[in-house]
Amino acid sequence: MKQNRFAEIVKYCHLLDSKGFVANHDGNITICSGEGSLWATPTAIAKREMQESMIITLDTEGKKLSGPGAGKAFSEVKLHLSAYRARRDAKACIHAHPPHAMAFALAFAGSGMEIFIPEAIISIGHIIPIVPLALAASEEQMSGVATALSSSDVVLLAGNGVLSIGEDLEQAYLRLELVEHMAKVNYLMQVSDRVPTRLSSQQLETLLQKRRELGFASSGIVSDRGTASGDDVVKQVVENELRKLFGK
Ligand SMILES: [Zn+2]
Repeated sequence: MKQNRFAEIVKYCHLLDSKGFVANHDGNITICSGEGSLWATPTAIAKREMQESMIITLDTEGKKLSGPGAGKAFSEVKLHLSAYRARRDAKACIHAHPPHAMAFALAFAGSGMEIFIPEAIISIGHIIPIVPLALAASEEQMSGVATALSSSDVVLLAGNGVLSIGEDLEQAYLRLELVEHMAKVNYLMQVSDRVPTRLSSQQLETLLQKRRELGFASSGIVSDRGTASGDDVVKQVVENELRKLFGK
């Protein structure tokens, strides 16, 4: 069982690398061991080099409990801890630097990323929050992550990529991958210099209702922002940004 889960961590590290979601020593993964500790990738390792024997065990404060001597906890573990504290349903957390999502978060820091594609809205919601620019794993960024995770399972961090949670590693990874894919779609729409076609409020509400029914809105922990009847402030910010973006 433990071996399977270690193999899974390695699999997703290699995937982050092969998909171009990390560079240098970027990115980190943790999963809950089920015994009050976390299994984690160590710091300062390129994700393509990751092996099961390198995995370390951390306590709930991010302190190393066991693992190979060379393996030290990564400094961004604070972001993971902040995520687990904010979301008790989270059992896995991934952080990476996928380029389209990173660029979007820097360009639109302080707002959110609107999702236009119906299927993706069901999976990850309508608005992906963007945590304002701050130093990596600073108090500001940690509290920004905690706040953002109250309305979404995946968040953009200006200057620091994407952080995603899930009930398992696969779910956390798929959310991160989808955010990067949507950021790419938004970028391609932007270069087309056309105003995007949007769903009607009624269509959007139908999708968000379906999302809730399918249990993708994290069992009521998440209150979707930006719904037709919900957080109009977020929606307004995004629309203003898009108006600037498309110059219309
Ligand atoms: Zn980072």
